[in-house]
Amino acid sequence: MVIGGGIAGYCAALGARREGADVTVVARAPGASALYAGAMEVVDDLEFILKTQPHHPFTRLGLDSVRLASELDTAIQSLLFALERDGLKVEGGWRTRGMYADIHGLARPGNLIPATVAPGELQSLMGRRVAVVGVAEVGDYDAAATAQALTELHGIQAFAEQVSISDLPQSASVTDLYGRRAPALAKARAATAAYPPGFTNLPPDSFELLSAPPSPHGWRLQQAIGLGSINANVQSVESARGRITSVRAGDRTLRADSFILATGHHIGGGLDGGRVTREPLLNLGVYHNGNPVGAAGTRLQHLQYIDAAEELRSGLRTDAELHPLDEAGQVPYGNLYAAGAVLGGYDYAGACGFGVPILTGWLAGRWAAKARA
Ligand SMILES: Cc1cc2nc3c(=O)[nH]c(=O)nc-3n(C[C@H](O)[C@H](O)[C@H](O)COP(=O)(O)OP(=O)(O)OC[C@H]3O[C@@H](n4cnc5c(N)ncnc54)[C@H](O)[C@@H]3O)c2cc1C
Repeated sequence: MVIGGGIAGYCAALGARREGADVTVVARAPGASALYAGAMEVVDDLEFILKTQPHHPFTRLGLDSVRLASELDTAIQSLLFALERDGLKVEGGWRTRGMYADIHGLARPGNLIPATVAPGELQSLMGRRVAVVGVAEVGDYDAAATAQALTELHGIQAFAEQVSISDLPQSASVTDLYGRRAPALAKARAATAAYPPGFTNLPPDSFELLSAPPSPHGWRLQQAIGLGSINANVQSVESARGRITSVRAGDRTLRADSFILATGHHIGGGLDGGRVTREPLLNLGVYHNGNPVGAAGTRLQHLQYIDAAEELRSGLRTDAELHPLDEAGQVPYGNLYAAGAVLGGYDYAGACGFGVPILTGWLAGRWAAKARA
């Protein structure tokens, strides 16, 4: 059983099914995966992480870089195949990294990219003319400013081309474009066209820009990864003799041999903020820099004011097989695994934003399936 319907839960289900398990995914709502900008970051420098970041979930797996690289290869190949089957074509790999512009013209790195975004890789646009499509009725996006940013920040020959969509609501926003057919362009015929995100049926030689939350790219991803999951909130867990036996969701009791916690960080609901961050479902240990957060008193709270990213590094700590630890550093449940942004030791808004959920999800799924009774 996988608890959590984000990218970590999806990869856990893929890994477990690969080992022949019968998998149930329970999710109460979309989480952070539904908010991503449209460029999935997997990993920047794997060797550097293993050498310098002892608490990073990749390092804690205790695998060498060759084995990690091969697991990443398999996990990503399976993920891209499954996403395409579920209606979303994504390209790229963890060894390749490109830069992609968002709707404001700012660049963001990405390893795995939706096929509708991939042709907008900034290096590949050099020497080409780019028409940035603006929609007259949309108030929260300015194609002329985006074109100017593409030129000034990235040296791309860009200009704005305005279209009108008469049936949009008054004071429409970018999200009102979601699911509409891309309007045809007049002037852009000799150029590559950059569309704000959300349109369907883009013409040839065009691409979508990355988005800010709420994100059409995230919503499409969520539609693909949410297929087949049970929509329910897991409120409590029953256990006996160091093993979880079932979970309660509403009036249902769901039983399984192995359980994977892929409940996300604060946005997903896998961690509760407050004076001291806690894990709400099983009261598992929450760690920061290798120490239980309780031991830091209110220091973390103060650090958060100085640098919000610092607190984002708090989360569950696991042994090398992805069993989460309690506050005493022991494994409380032999058939429980944890994956994704609920884990601590890395910056989940950083260079492994999708890499940690993908790899730990995939491995947790495979290991949970292999270990089942
Ligand atoms: C605004 C924003 C933008 C981002 N943009 C990017 C980006 O562009 N590129 C990038 O690489 N990374 C990005 N990240 C990071 C990345 O999105 C996350 O690290 C990743 O999506 C986490 O996936 P997850 O599956 O671990 O958690 P989530 O996607 O948060 O999923 C958690 C799931 O658990 C479920 N859940 C929790 N508790 C329960 C319960 N008790 N019962 C049932 N279900 C439960 C939730 O409902 C949810 O379905 C971004 C993060 C944010 C917040």
